[in-house]
Amino acid sequence: MKTISILGSTGSIGTQTLEVVEEQKDLKVAALAAGSNITLLERQIRKFHPSLVAVWEEKKAKELRENVKDLNVKVVSGMEGLLEAATVAEAEIVVTAVVGMIGIRPTIAAIEAGKDIALANKETLVTAGHLIMPLAREHGVQILPVDSEHSAIFQSLNGERRDKIGKILLTASGGPFRGRKRGELENIQVEDALKHPNWSMGQKITIDSATLVNKGLEVIEAKWLFGVGLDQIQVVVQPQSVIHSMVEFEDGAVIAQLGTPDMKLPIQYALFYPERRFLGGKRLDFAQLGQITFEEPDMETFLGLPLAMEAARKGGSMTTVFNAANERAVSKFLRRKVSFLQIYDMISECMERHHLIENPTLDQILETEQEVYDFIESRW
Ligand code: NAD
Ligand code: MG
Repeated sequence: MKTISILGSTGSIGTQTLEVVEEQKDLKVAALAAGSNITLLERQIRKFHPSLVAVWEEKKAKELRENVKDLNVKVVSGMEGLLEAATVAEAEIVVTAVVGMIGIRPTIAAIEAGKDIALANKETLVTAGHLIMPLAREHGVQILPVDSEHSAIFQSLNGERRDKIGKILLTASGGPFRGRKRGELENIQVEDALKHPNWSMGQKITIDSATLVNKGLEVIEAKWLFGVGLDQIQVVVQPQSVIHSMVEFEDGAVIAQLGTPDMKLPIQYALFYPERRFLGGKRLDFAQLGQITFEEPDMETFLGLPLAMEAARKGGSMTTVFNAANERAVSKFLRRKVSFLQIYDMISECMERHHLIENPTLDQILETEQEVYDFIESRW
């Protein structure tokens, strides 16, 4: 029996993690944390019996406390609550599936409490990878990737030495607007951008996939997870989303992980690593698939990727600026306050005016985040 805590249990990754818990009989849920969907949280509590539940908003937490008072569960709130869910004594693995850099502090707390991390929350590594990776080594805990590309890379590296990596081939679907030019993106509506061709995910990452910011975040995530240089990561567009990523080794051999798009595979792989378990669902039918095609990413139209590369090259606090500006820009786009292409303007303007901090502490990362938010509020 393995005991887990899930941060972001009501989201896309969180609910699929609970499906894995339902299917595999030897996982136990110690704690759940979520933002505000207490209706779904209550259903999850009644089904999975966690001893602790964290709700971000105290008002909602109070309501939930009332609704589950017949059960033996403690309901906490705010950042203190989220940290408690991340460090709950019984949990061996913490699934970090909250969206955004709100995940930094609970991830650090979980590592310090000796928990392995099943990491979906890429924004945490993008902004604080230089703190998280050494901390995990220091505490002897594993960071197990849940992002499908990084899980594919992780699986391709099984039994291999990391110093034999030539390069990582990070695959991208290209998003719903692949093939379009800048002029054709001017009037993109929220509904258009929320239609991802191959994956069904939370709103923020779906927009990030359309701007290619997601692929940029994933490049930085890969750099931290696998300890490679930026020049060793190549993004390849592979629109069918069949190859989830590949590794080229120094002898020229390329090892890839393929499969139908289903996040339950990387979730399950992270939770049971190094064991593989049965997972139902469709299998690849290569004859029917016919072909798998490849393209270069269009870096002139989809500025999310080159902006991320620039932030990564500058390093330090610049990746926080890139990420925080994008988080706010996407939230404004979803509320129809700014246009699709303005997301790029907002990120690049924030990056231009920022004075780089080479090796930011946690406090400096959080201050940089706040500065970016304040600037965006004053400007857009
Ligand atoms: P989502 O929006 O569907 O879910 C986010 C979850 O975080 C929800 O449960 C929400 O309640 C919770 N949350 C938000 N703010 C919170 C707060 N302040 N306190 C506590 N909980 C809070 O997002 P998602 O698509 O599941 O993505 C989660 C993370 O996983 C993101 O970092 C994303 O980039 C990454 N990821 C997702 C997918 C996918 O298929 N959805 C794939 C790869 C990586
Ligand atoms: Mg991914």
